[in-house]
Amino acid sequence: MPSTKNRITPKKRMYFHSELRQCPHCGTKLKRHHTAWHKYVNTLNGIFDIWNMAYACPNLECPYPGSYFRSAEADALVMKHTSYGFDVLALVGELRFKQHYTLSELHEELNRRGVVTSERNCERLYERYLTLLRASVTDHLREVLAGVVQAHGGLLLSMDGVQPEKGNETLYVVREGFSGSILAAQNLKSGSAEELKRLLEPVEKLGFPIIGLLSDGQHSIRLAMSSLWPEVPYQYCQYHYLKDIAKPVMDLDRKLKTGIKKNLRGIRSLEKKIQSDDSEEAAIAKDYLAAVRAVLLEDGNPPLDLPGIRVYEEALAIQGSLQRSAKKGGSPTVRNS
Ligand SMILES: [Zn+2]
Repeated sequence: MPSTKNRITPKKRMYFHSELRQCPHCGTKLKRHHTAWHKYVNTLNGIFDIWNMAYACPNLECPYPGSYFRSAEADALVMKHTSYGFDVLALVGELRFKQHYTLSELHEELNRRGVVTSERNCERLYERYLTLLRASVTDHLREVLAGVVQAHGGLLLSMDGVQPEKGNETLYVVREGFSGSILAAQNLKSGSAEELKRLLEPVEKLGFPIIGLLSDGQHSIRLAMSSLWPEVPYQYCQYHYLKDIAKPVMDLDRKLKTGIKKNLRGIRSLEKKIQSDDSEEAAIAKDYLAAVRAVLLEDGNPPLDLPGIRVYEEALAIQGSLQRSAKKGGSPTVRNS
């Protein structure tokens, strides 16, 4: 019997939080409130256990106390009522729509890529893909959005692009965050700011107030959004943003740490020199050397707490202490003594 529930153990559990940190209405720091949703998501990179945490404004005087802010990025990962990632959906569209795969070929290809599914489900995914591309601002959607504005003071817009394969087109999707509605979706080759702006224009024409713009760090998306809504604050999606910046920053950090370690290499000979010295000065010097040793062991917790930066800051603190001592004249003494 074909099973629609996937029993395979997920690769990783991931928690997503509201990208907005402060209430857009009153500026109060938002507080974690409840789990908006939680599910296993089949992506082209494996199965993930995704949690989307909703935040609320704790200010009792806030004009919109009933607004919950979820992670737009988590919402962008998976389509409502399915357990398949948007990357899978985009790939299904690419293979069937553009490359004219039959359903059975499509089924085979998805399984080859580790996405466990049935032929019937491939068909369903393809139907969803076609529905997605037809997304536009209908009268019904206009009513939904008007309701959102009344309940939350404005729309929360997000936009992002999924490219299932390098070199192919990217599927861009525009969403409204409170309602989870999809306002527009289109495959674009270049994804230039001009193209993206055209995709957003029908939304702008509605004239509804926008209280926040969210997307990953992609420059053209940010340009398109801020050209249409220059006054609205723009927020990065945290995880995307981290993923993009983490690699080069971590490489630089590793170099920094290696460099500092090289400069501190001389401590072994110093340690030997004072090993059997019982004077007070030698005892103080030994404390400093122990501090330097401890610094060299720092690991940090990348990408947010970088080991190289940590080693640098602590080495700087030790250097400062030594310099203060030297200024006082004579041998290094501990601060405040
Ligand atoms: Zn508030």
